[in-house]
Amino acid sequence: MIRGVDCLPEPIKEEIKRAAYEELEDLTKRPINQLFITELSWCLRKAFFRRKLGENRDSLKTAWNFYKGIMLDRKWCPLFKQNQKRATYQIPQTDIVISGKLDFIYPDYERVYELKTIKNCYYLLKDEAPKEEHKMQVLFYAYCNGFSKASLIYTDYSEVVRFDFEKEDIGSILKVIEARAELLYQALLMNVPPEGKQSSDWECSECEYREACEVKYVKSEQGSSV
Ligand code: SF4
Repeated sequence: MIRGVDCLPEPIKEEIKRAAYEELEDLTKRPINQLFITELSWCLRKAFFRRKLGENRDSLKTAWNFYKGIMLDRKWCPLFKQNQKRATYQIPQTDIVISGKLDFIYPDYERVYELKTIKNCYYLLKDEAPKEEHKMQVLFYAYCNGFSKASLIYTDYSEVVRFDFEKEDIGSILKVIEARAELLYQALLMNVPPEGKQSSDWECSECEYREACEVKYVKSEQGSSV
């Protein structure tokens, strides 16, 4: 038996990489005051390195993760009249703009939905809770489009899990988003990664910026400039 995405025939692997990256903007070229809500929901050090170093577009593993989400979006979002709608928010008294695109609204004028493909739904079922960063993202989309109801749908292509939000304190979530945006913006401006490890060991072990992060992290712990 051969296991893993690497065992696929070459034409399929090439198709995965092509489809995964064809619509993905090169973040190294994006103005630093124009942030995506998705960047703010990652580890901020990862967001910093992706802006500075770009992503490794040769990695089949990373492409596969993008590809699964893209395929689901392409099939399911067009089923709804209002889909792929832009959400934009400017932090008051700054020129920092945060944006993103919601997946779909259903029923019309009522609830915003966000689809997420993940490796395994086990931890969501165990904790009976969504990932905080995804909750922040879908509530941001709802707020920007004037909705108070939002839902997250997760699938690992085996299980399907849905979380609904109706009475969330969007004001405090917006404050967290603003604070993260300002932190990332300042880090990009000063060319210094945000301090501190922000992810679980598991996420770090999968991170394509681990080497850059560890070197800079060790240096900053020793008091050298980074
Ligand atoms: S290695 Fe961990 S802390 Fe460093 S950028 Fe990646 S996810 Fe973030």
